[in-house]
Amino acid sequence: MPLRDVDVSEVLPSDVRVSFLFFEGVTSMATVPELFGSMVFNDRVMKARLPANVYNSLQQTIGEGQPLNPVVADAVASAMRDWAVEKGATHFTHWFQPMTGITAEKHDSFITPSPDGGVIMEFSSKELIKGEPDASSFPSGGLRATFEARGYTAWDPTSYAFIKDKTLCIPTAFCSYSGEALDKKTPLLRSMEALNKQAMRIMKLFGNDDVKCVRTSVGPEQEYFLVDSVMFGKRRDLIYTGRTLFGAKPPKGQELDDHYFGSIKPRVAEFMADLNEELWKLGILAKTEHNEVAPAQHELAPIYTTTNIATDHNQLTMEIMQKVAKKHGLVCLLHEKPFAGVNGSGKHNNWSMTTDTGVNLLSPGDTPHENAQFLLFLTAVIKAVDDYQDLLRLSVATAGNDHRLGANEAPPAVVSIFLGEELTAVLEAIESGAPYNAAEKTQMKLGVDTLPRFTRDTTDRNRTSPFAFTGNKFEFRMLGSANSIACTNIMLDSAVAETLQQFADALEGAADFGAALQTLIRETISAHKRIIFNGNGYDDAWIKEATEKRGLLNLRTTPDCMSLLLDKKNVEMLTRHCVFSEAELKSRYEIMLENYCKTVNIEALTMTDMARREILPAVESYASEIAASAAAKKALDGAMCCGYEKKLVTKLSSLTDQIADRTDALETAMAKLKTICDITEEANMIRDEILPKMMELRACADEAETLTAEKHWPFPVYGELLFGAR
Ligand code: ADP
Ligand code: MG
Repeated sequence: MPLRDVDVSEVLPSDVRVSFLFFEGVTSMATVPELFGSMVFNDRVMKARLPANVYNSLQQTIGEGQPLNPVVADAVASAMRDWAVEKGATHFTHWFQPMTGITAEKHDSFITPSPDGGVIMEFSSKELIKGEPDASSFPSGGLRATFEARGYTAWDPTSYAFIKDKTLCIPTAFCSYSGEALDKKTPLLRSMEALNKQAMRIMKLFGNDDVKCVRTSVGPEQEYFLVDSVMFGKRRDLIYTGRTLFGAKPPKGQELDDHYFGSIKPRVAEFMADLNEELWKLGILAKTEHNEVAPAQHELAPIYTTTNIATDHNQLTMEIMQKVAKKHGLVCLLHEKPFAGVNGSGKHNNWSMTTDTGVNLLSPGDTPHENAQFLLFLTAVIKAVDDYQDLLRLSVATAGNDHRLGANEAPPAVVSIFLGEELTAVLEAIESGAPYNAAEKTQMKLGVDTLPRFTRDTTDRNRTSPFAFTGNKFEFRMLGSANSIACTNIMLDSAVAETLQQFADALEGAADFGAALQTLIRETISAHKRIIFNGNGYDDAWIKEATEKRGLLNLRTTPDCMSLLLDKKNVEMLTRHCVFSEAELKSRYEIMLENYCKTVNIEALTMTDMARREILPAVESYASEIAASAAAKKALDGAMCCGYEKKLVTKLSSLTDQIADRTDALETAMAKLKTICDITEEANMIRDEILPKMMELRACADEAETLTAEKHWPFPVYGELLFGAR
């Protein structure tokens, strides 16, 4: 019998019942096409509601990056207000993405008093275009002097406005009084523009005169865990840090692989259906969802879209996931490593470059001409990833993601590219000048019609590579589940822009384009083939080969990689393409390390709190119970010795001593940490002293968990958390 036919209040808490009813109500109200984008001020709405000249002018701003005409802004603001008010919105907000990693909004009401004592709903173009939130409580890494707390938000017309919680949300960029970016969107837009500019030079070289712009597209696959909210509420580590800081391995984990693509449990299925509807209303193309390898772990994949919009959508998806989970009595964990010994959660950044005429530049074409162009873009990405491995690695560096990348989990911290056998063979043939396919004796010459046709390589689905070519896109898999995808795409787009610039410089003056192209591709392959690796990325032998033979970087932790952000080569590249100013880079360095330090600080404090106030008392009380029962036994039968009890009490008391000692040691180290003023030093000490001490404390507490009677243990254990969300 499907769950929705039973009286759910008998099996689940009452708030869940409300969600089921809500869910059923919504499905019967609208069909998916009616629902889709119904809360978005999208192209269809604009076309219907804006005068033709206003619509066309706005399209030029959105599509071709033309400056915004102020008259247009007036008309857009009033159309937006009418639309939003009709949909039940009462407030508006500039929605932005500060360096906290989540989104921020400050709501203002549309209501303005009218002379007759009533109110009217007002929204001016000034309010649409510019906002002035108090920036003082957002991280700025020293960019904003404390006396100048003002920050500006500026409308980003390339991302659609939408309604969420009766509020019209206007996507905006956020910057300081003096114009430095304080958010993730501004540099993302700049990097997309840098890539567009250089890619357009290559487009011209290949005679694509109809192309007006090149955009990158992203489809981010999002992993997450769902746990029961009642159990979540009993664990302070989950509440304060989003991950379990203690917890012994359960008898059953992910070893049977029976969860992967397994049938979805009823409550989770209801959550997913509800989530899809909420996302569809916001125009987010959530398409596939399935169970992941770890129990309680799931994945959501949207259909890809322009990087800027994909970034907004991914932020919204993470927010809505958490909100919808609550309605179903669940909590959605976005932390990269909620459970030790169980797979962590990542995010796959599927990335491609497309022209406004609809050509995917990473798609091998049907003609030799298209293939030559494809090979140029392909080698540009290979070179960019090799030259800027450090930037890609640090774009995903957080305390949470270090648990995946730096530990024995996939993908490794070493950046490499998977190309698949066929494409690798093609590149090898170009490099050596040998025939590509010995059987067919196809000679590799670019720009002439003997070039082989490549087909989409579906033979090998390498899942261990951090950067895999998957037929017509690259999939960057190092992102943590909680990361904003902005940082990665800023670095990727900038690095590719840089390579394309070098390529365009080399080719634009060439007397013989075909020959110059051939040489450029061959030399690029020779110089950067070390980054290509088609084998198993989890293998220890690979890490050894990568670092020792190939000279690739293995940056295991956030403090290991952050300083490279300020490396001369990186600063020069990012400033040359106007993606960041040097001051902005310095501020990001500070902010990222600050976030790292704060995160681990909270974790360490939570650990000592749980150890002292929950774990030690629990183990003690169990030990006294055993001791009491031993005493009773002895009194009953004086001659008998109580071997079991004695052994257990001895073991438990040695463990409580260890827990207490290691808690003290952690606290002493934390006190020392407080005396350090330099952020780099602080982060290093966290990596070298605090985190190891946390692991030591955890080890003895986890052992105590396995010996303590269930009724004494103060919070739900792994088995309950992982298998509890039925
Ligand atoms: P795979 O099987 O390689 O993971 P899928 O078809 O399942 O590929 O797609 C995974 C993700 O990649 C989806 O979010 C999808 O929208 C996205 N994607 C597909 N094609 C492209 C592309 N050309 N550019 C960017 N993302 C893409
Ligand atoms: Mg994938």
